[in-house]
Amino acid sequence: MSDMVKGTITSINGNMITVRFKGSIVQNEVGYVVLGEERLKSEVIKINGDLAYMQVYELTKGIRIGDPVEFTREMLSVQLGPGVLSRVYDGLQNPLNDLAAAHGFFLPRGVVLDAIDLNETWTFTPAVKKGDVLYRGMALGTVPEGIFDHKIMVPFNFYDEYTVESIADKGDYKVTDEIAVLKDSRGEKHPVTMIFEWPVKIPIDAYNQKIVPKEPMSTRVRIVDTFFPVNKGGTYCIPGPFGAGKTVLQQLTSRYADVDIVIIAACGERAGEVVETLREFPKLEDPRTGKTLMERTIIICNTSSMPVAAREASVYTAATIGEYYRQMGLDVLLLADSTSRWAQAMREVSGRLEEIPGEEAFPAYLESRIAEFYERAGFVELLDGSYGSMTIGGTVSPAGGNFEEPVTQATLKVVGAFHGLSRARSDARRYPAIDPLESWSKYKGIIPREKVEEAHDVLRRGSEVHQMMMVVGEEGTSLDDFVVYLKGELLDSVYLQQDGFDPVDAACSAERQEYVFQKIHDILLDSYEFNNKDEARKFFNVLRQLIVDWNYTPMDKDAFKTQEKEIDKHLKKARAEKTAA
Ligand code: ADP
Ligand code: MG
Repeated sequence: MSDMVKGTITSINGNMITVRFKGSIVQNEVGYVVLGEERLKSEVIKINGDLAYMQVYELTKGIRIGDPVEFTREMLSVQLGPGVLSRVYDGLQNPLNDLAAAHGFFLPRGVVLDAIDLNETWTFTPAVKKGDVLYRGMALGTVPEGIFDHKIMVPFNFYDEYTVESIADKGDYKVTDEIAVLKDSRGEKHPVTMIFEWPVKIPIDAYNQKIVPKEPMSTRVRIVDTFFPVNKGGTYCIPGPFGAGKTVLQQLTSRYADVDIVIIAACGERAGEVVETLREFPKLEDPRTGKTLMERTIIICNTSSMPVAAREASVYTAATIGEYYRQMGLDVLLLADSTSRWAQAMREVSGRLEEIPGEEAFPAYLESRIAEFYERAGFVELLDGSYGSMTIGGTVSPAGGNFEEPVTQATLKVVGAFHGLSRARSDARRYPAIDPLESWSKYKGIIPREKVEEAHDVLRRGSEVHQMMMVVGEEGTSLDDFVVYLKGELLDSVYLQQDGFDPVDAACSAERQEYVFQKIHDILLDSYEFNNKDEARKFFNVLRQLIVDWNYTPMDKDAFKTQEKEIDKHLKKARAEKTAA
């Protein structure tokens, strides 16, 4: 191209370069540093006169002042189409599974692989005919992908009204084969294939409207669904100190949440953590299909050894892919672990740009970036009147577990639910270690709010008695208060805690939660008669074990009813006369 904008490097600071250019470029435009045979992908993040500040997505070793840069007029984009599902990508959508085979685990510098396999064929079934009028985002047809019908849509950057000029017959096609020709309002014809690109930093908005989330997304984790629920299209965060169980909780959710597609944006905390995820995930079984969970999962992963800019890009890549599948009317769950690594990448970039730092040296725009990310979640009404959703859950790993730091605080301002993990609970192995007294949710759950509040109140009062007891001792505590404490402990051990590694207890369905919660709620609100604290303690110890055993029993087995009868029998022993009637 003769009109290609070119520039030369004038300074280098880690992964940040400044480039003097001639012509016009735009913010977020992609350029390549040309280093002999190698072309290093870079992005314009600031323009000042004829100087572009660019972050290089590759190791910058060997780059020199005066080296040429070529601009592309394109923004950092991802490839969208069938074949994205089940893949493992890095933050720039390089497929890591192919990579492992071809190059070892990490991509050599300057190597670019297709995000989508261009040789694979897909069975296309048309959904439109010649003469039909279409807009961006509308389906031209479908191809089966895993357990879903993948909609082949009018590309989202087709902003006109189009008439179908031709459409492919049912048959097998490669993603780059022409499957339709669309005529715009001026009569110009546009060939369409099964893939197109979309810039990662711009939300996909080819829908009618966003609707306030109100449908519960069941995670099958009792403390979440009953006490601090998440809704489809909503947002939540899981802050917690190192080792408190953030990653385990997200893995459980990715397995059991009632969504179609899970996207995991893994920014590793420990070296090896991401490799572990890559090794373990394909082995996990999907409880819905019995096949591997990977069939409906996409992993975007980064490790601390990857260049900082690629880490920063990964959450946008994940969000864009999630929005793409949402456009097909699917429910998507995007899990980012950990967003603190992403924020740190942002901090590094900002530092190299020599921007005026905000709190703890994070950039002043930290809050707005975090807000923009979570705003990409949403429950949307699509053009054909059907619905799709993308829910976003992000972990935050503040140093020392201190929630007062900027990333946690900025996140709490925008999310709809807060699942704060506590060191005290994880040390006591009370998993999942979500703090029931600190956490909150603005969403509607499966159990009526007032009943949940009543149970929560027992928990709070029980905790107060516990605090007091640590000062005055058990002798200084009244029997009534002591029973409140025991009730709180009961709720904690048989309902809030859940064994993530037991095949039955790990996943508690909404139906089961409704049933069991009703029982627990009644126990908490009933009155009991005890002669002394020892008697009370013994009674609740036996009751706890009976209910824990009940939790391990499948609901559809006779043993479930038998165990419930045992519980009822035990309850009768101490229930006060006035309420027993
Ligand atoms: P984080 O991501 O917060 O650093 P992890 O999720 O990696 O912490 O959890 C650290 C360890 O704690 C796990 O390896 C596991 O041994 C234990 N753990 C966490 N959550 C649970 C759970 N729900 N059930 C049992 N053990 C858990
Ligand atoms: Mg973790």
